[in-house]
Amino acid sequence: MKITFVCNIDIDLKSPNLKEISDNYCKILKIITSQFFQQVILEFANHYMSQGIKPFSCDKCGNNKHFIWKTHHGKKTSLLTIFGLLNLFQLQIQCKICNCKMYLTRKLLGIAPRKRIPLDTIRKLGMIGALTTFRVAKKIVGMFGVVLDKMTVWHSVQKFRLLQNSDLISHDLLRGGDVR
Ligand SMILES: [Zn+2]
Repeated sequence: MKITFVCNIDIDLKSPNLKEISDNYCKILKIITSQFFQQVILEFANHYMSQGIKPFSCDKCGNNKHFIWKTHHGKKTSLLTIFGLLNLFQLQIQCKICNCKMYLTRKLLGIAPRKRIPLDTIRKLGMIGALTTFRVAKKIVGMFGVVLDKMTVWHSVQKFRLLQNSDLISHDLLRGGDVR
C-alpha cells in the first residue's frame, strides 16, 4: 500500500549547524514515529474494512466479514520500539454478528495484547546489549534520542538468549537431534 505521509511540526532552532539540527531531529523523531505508525495502521485498517473478507476475525464468534467502526481514537496502548516508547490510539471495531467490540491496533501490528516490549524490539535491543555493556547499549540507542533504562536492555538480553535457545532447540528437533 502506498502511503503519503505529511507531518507539520513547529520547532525553534538556534542555528543551522550540524549539532543543532541533529539534536532537534532527535527531538522530533518520536513525534514523527508515533504519527507515522498511527497513520499506517489506520490506512491499512480502512483498506481492510472496505474489503468483503477481512484478514482478521471476531475474537468471540469468528466472523471475518461484517464489522463497523467504533473509534479511531480509543484508549492508548504503549509499546517499546527501538525508536522509543510509542503511545498509539487504539482502533476499535465492533462485530455486527455478536456485537463484540475489539481493538485492531495490536492485531495489525502483529503483537500480543498488553505486551509492552514486542519480540522484534527484544531481538534488536538484545542483540545490541549482547554485543556491548548495558551502559554502552543505552548510549547507542540514546544517540537517536531514545530514552531507555539499563534494566530494559538487560531484560531484552535475557529474553533474547531464551529466544535463541528455543530457536536452537526447535532447529535440533527439526533435524531429529537431541535436546539438551
Ligand atoms: Zn462476533
